[in-house]
Amino acid sequence: MDIAELSDRILKADRRALARAITLVESARADHRAEADALLSQLAQSNRQALRVGLSGTPGVGKSTFIEAFGMMLIAQGLRVAVLAVDPSSARSGGSILGDKTRMERLSRERAAFIRPSPSQSHLGGVARRTRDAVALCEAAGFDVVLIETVGVGQSETVVSELSDLFLLLLAPAGGDELQGVKRGIMEIADLILVNKADGDLKATATRTCADYAGALRLLRKRVQDPEGFPKALTVSALEEQGLQQTWAEIQALAEWRRAQGHWDRNRAAQAQYWFVEEVRQALLSRLDTTWAKTRMAELSAQVATGQQTPQAAARDLLTGLGMPPG
Ligand code: GDP
Repeated sequence: MDIAELSDRILKADRRALARAITLVESARADHRAEADALLSQLAQSNRQALRVGLSGTPGVGKSTFIEAFGMMLIAQGLRVAVLAVDPSSARSGGSILGDKTRMERLSRERAAFIRPSPSQSHLGGVARRTRDAVALCEAAGFDVVLIETVGVGQSETVVSELSDLFLLLLAPAGGDELQGVKRGIMEIADLILVNKADGDLKATATRTCADYAGALRLLRKRVQDPEGFPKALTVSALEEQGLQQTWAEIQALAEWRRAQGHWDRNRAAQAQYWFVEEVRQALLSRLDTTWAKTRMAELSAQVATGQQTPQAAARDLLTGLGMPPG
């Protein structure tokens, strides 16, 4: 199938064409990259926009249960939902803690849903860049909501927030008044904190935990992109499907406000610039990934260790060899 036909089918919401296109953008082959770039440029003209929602939480907090219940609710309202994953563990081990096939079984059977596991790439930057391409493909295919799931281990939230219009943080009820060691940086990117498992024996604890987080959020500096009352903490039960409608209402209210204020477009423009810089950075770094560069680097490194060359002279030597002499 050529690029024009693939593009056509994606615009007609053909899920097989979409899956194929995502495989293409994830490929490391130079000819595939060129095709992928052509496809993405062509599809960018469709100007379709989805609501991109980032979602993070530690393993076991209920991400897949939540996404399934939330996704089913959106589909029942006539919306089409794509779920993508950014799994930093796939970069390290080749294994995956997110997005394996047994998760979200009900949702995966829905025609209005599209679920794609994390791309396997050698580093988080690669995973994130390819996920960004997948988001663009899902938008062109006319999905209304794209959920981008990641596991809460720090750095991956930051890159997912660069892919998202808004960001949800899922937390578990915790005993006592101690905040769950959630890093300040993550609190600062969260637009909604959802304390999950607010059901049965855990309900009272969840309510208390939610109040603790609401208090902590009030102490954060107010962000320009937030209306009064945001960021906000809510209790939900993914299992009993409680609080999902309210979550959706809050998401919509926040999205509408940001659109009206111009923050939405400004955020997307800033993200496009971020990914432009990231593409350049990664392309430059990939120049170090060739056999020649690695061998030369090892030789020069040995010379630096024995004092045969200064670090500066060795760096100049390497860069000149790469055709990029320092100015
Ligand atoms: P993930 O690792 O974050 O994707 O978490 P899962 O969705 O796989 O859920 C982990 C465990 O928590 C499972 O045993 C779920 O049944 C349970 N769980 C998820 N959501 C809820 C909830 O709202 N209430 C309760 N009580 N358990 C939940």
